[in-house]
Amino acid sequence: ERQRLARIKNTPAVTLDGERVELLANIEQPSDTLPALAVSAVGVGLFRTEFLFMGRAHGKLPDEDEQYEAYRAAVEGMHGLPVTIRSVDVGADKPLDRSRVDEHLNPALGLRAIRWSLSEPAMFLTQVRAVLRAAAHGKVNLLIPMLAHLREVQQVKALLAKARAQLDASAAVHGPVRLGAMIEIPAAALALRLFMKHFDFFSIGTNDLIQYTLAIDRVDESVAHLYDPLHPAVLQLVAGAIAECRDQGKPVSVCGEMAGDPTMTRLLLGLGLRSFSMHPSQILAVKQQVLRADTRKLRLWAQQVIESEDPAVQMAN
Ligand code: PEP
Ligand code: MG
Repeated sequence: ERQRLARIKNTPAVTLDGERVELLANIEQPSDTLPALAVSAVGVGLFRTEFLFMGRAHGKLPDEDEQYEAYRAAVEGMHGLPVTIRSVDVGADKPLDRSRVDEHLNPALGLRAIRWSLSEPAMFLTQVRAVLRAAAHGKVNLLIPMLAHLREVQQVKALLAKARAQLDASAAVHGPVRLGAMIEIPAAALALRLFMKHFDFFSIGTNDLIQYTLAIDRVDESVAHLYDPLHPAVLQLVAGAIAECRDQGKPVSVCGEMAGDPTMTRLLLGLGLRSFSMHPSQILAVKQQVLRADTRKLRLWAQQVIESEDPAVQMAN
């Protein structure tokens, strides 16, 4: 099977009915661009920058130059293909320091991701400046995790403008970035219209979207059996977000585990998704599903699946 998959490495990801599908890689460090290119990923859809920040002695976060070098290495590593850099998403399942127990009762509902960044504006500005400088070397997108409030969007945009002004003031070379929002809190999926005009693209983070929709801690073994990507409520949110972005002409991708699960590919294609970002090890298996798919036949079927009482059973039909 691995040999069979290797044969489609250079085959463009186009469905039987001619729909082009973008297969992107999720990476955690610049060297992950090698496995991404080895399977012909057409870009990085999610660079989880928190891995640069984690496991360091407390108070010693990576400085601007260290971050710039890492982001630039990823950008250059992709040889002109786009790289989506997500602002740091620490907290909950990704603590800055694993040796320290988080004393908060519900860290997944606490000061994580963009909430933490906005509470530490100097840290966020440092990261944004590093990203803008890396953008002078290739196509860079900046992706913001865990947005729920319009106020947060305004704060992000103000800090982005401030970072640019700081770079201009010091005559530092920087480039343009496209700004994207992750849809991973149900509120953001339900009130997507609030965000639409503020962003160039959207990326659906199904891992957290499932966690928050079903109230299931994604790292708690005792409720793992209830963590269900095919729950009708989850599918309704994912389908609604894809449809709304498409209606508004905004690029939308899925970057959670769902995007890398080949048993989900046909459903996501049927819901209108044309951009998937996943661990490089999944790209060829997902591509195989894309090559066999006819989206004209999948549309109606996908609607039936998401409207059914038991999508898992309906999927088998
Ligand atoms: C997600 O939540 O689906 C996602 C891609 O982000 P992470 O898994 O890093 O929280
Ligand atoms: Mg997430």
